[in-house]
Amino acid sequence: MAQSINIKFPNGISADIPTGLFINNEFVKSSDGKTFPVFNPSTEEQICEVYEANEADVDAAVDAAEAAFEDWGFGDSSRRGRLLTKLSDLIEEHAETLASIESLNNGKPMSLARIDVQLSADCIRSYAGWADKLYGDVLPAGDDNYFSYVRREPIGVCGQVIPWNFPLLMWAWKVGPALAAGNTVVLKSAESTPLSALYASTLVKEAGIPAGVLNIVSGYGQTGQYITSHMRIKKIAFTGSTATGRHVMKAAAASNLKKVTLELGGKSPNIVFADADLDKAVEFANMGIYFNSGEVCCAGSRIYVQDSIYDTFLEKLKARAEKNVVGDPFDDNTFQGPQTSKIQLDRILSYIEHGKNEGARVITGGKRLDRKGYFIHPTIFADVTEDMKIVKEEIFGPVVTITKFSTTDEVIKLANNTEYGLAAGIHTTNINKALHVSAKIHAGTVWVNTYNDFHHNVPFGGYGQSGIGRELGREGILESYTQPKSVRVKLDLAA
Ligand code: NAP
Ligand code: MG
Repeated sequence: MAQSINIKFPNGISADIPTGLFINNEFVKSSDGKTFPVFNPSTEEQICEVYEANEADVDAAVDAAEAAFEDWGFGDSSRRGRLLTKLSDLIEEHAETLASIESLNNGKPMSLARIDVQLSADCIRSYAGWADKLYGDVLPAGDDNYFSYVRREPIGVCGQVIPWNFPLLMWAWKVGPALAAGNTVVLKSAESTPLSALYASTLVKEAGIPAGVLNIVSGYGQTGQYITSHMRIKKIAFTGSTATGRHVMKAAAASNLKKVTLELGGKSPNIVFADADLDKAVEFANMGIYFNSGEVCCAGSRIYVQDSIYDTFLEKLKARAEKNVVGDPFDDNTFQGPQTSKIQLDRILSYIEHGKNEGARVITGGKRLDRKGYFIHPTIFADVTEDMKIVKEEIFGPVVTITKFSTTDEVIKLANNTEYGLAAGIHTTNINKALHVSAKIHAGTVWVNTYNDFHHNVPFGGYGQSGIGRELGREGILESYTQPKSVRVKLDLAA
């Protein structure tokens, strides 16, 4: 198998996409030559095969990252900033190709893929600015015969495992802060969507980022475990399911107690009060769940609506959901593409069947499209109860439940009735209510009169079983990718 493949996209763009592992700034075959197939979820056809990293390949990537660490982490920090800025420029230059890769491999509409690419460039550029501003502190700690200070140092080789719902954006959220802080990286992309990280690796090399600083090990089945259990990887950052997050943490504990940050699942409440701007609330409820085919960790998958507007809201949301164009991601009119994999399609359809069997009422949708590809109609369930599986568990698809409430206290209880705590939405024109409820909700992010609304300066992460640590913003680099070193010097000023 060649180490790159030429892909001609449905929009006429064509590009050479590497298929090798990216180690030491070279694309190489896996040492045993093993590959795995990558599919197009819109057609169910195979796109290509990519090389699969085994344990020896992960070791080689760690060797490369270790060798690069001293110079990258403790050399000129403004050089790191310059090179990462160059990388963000290259991402913008190659935006249409990157967006086409995301649409082909993940299934998201081009309109969304373009936004992901821009947000990725913005994230890398913002963290590039941090590279030479990771200030330490001088501490008043004793009399003048002590000089005490804290340095912010990089952690070392970081392992990163990213998901398939935002393949390039999650790459950027992980790589940007890790590299800006001076760490080196071994990253595993998701098995269903490895292509954008491989193409981005060509840009990493072109930007002049030194060999070994960022290594990409595509993999399937075992690669993630090799990373989380590796004795020379000093930190692991994982985004994915809560169940796998537990395994990651166990493996970190059982190996070398590597530092752990986890961005996991959610079952986020989206609350609509009677005094909300109704049409806007409907828009954000629709976008909150159906954006990116519902494959969003913070999806507003539990909608709570105040009783006096419940019937009107339900009617409007149904009409809005039925207007979402589901189809070919390369068609400009498309709002929702296919689910990213067959596994995911089947998982969502089984939740839908569960909902029906438990007695929930399908208001719209409730089935896949009658065509090739992993498409599901936007689905609304009403008449749900809190103990139903579809209300408790993360579905990770275009399926929402809707529940009536009457008082603010009641909806706070309902919203917090979950083991998760990733995000929440509140729709109201009353600022006092908005701030009161925001304070009471157990979630890492609260959106008021908006939803799925990210900015690279605003930290993101979970309460409860939605995760540990934060990505983005100051926390996303200082807490997640540096470690403080305290130095206390005893002087003898009288001498
Ligand atoms: P998953 O189980 O969360 O994660 C799969 C990824 O984790 C693969 O890259 C896999 O690598 C790696 N992995 C598995 N076991 C590991 C271990 N012990 N140590 C380190 N890495 C390990 O994802 P999924 O099966 O694709 O999706 C399942 C559900 O996760 C979805 O339905 C959704 O609910 C949730 N999800 C959440 C997010 C999010 O943004 N929070 C994103 C995607 C999915 P190997 O193949 O090498 O084992
Ligand atoms: Mg596995």
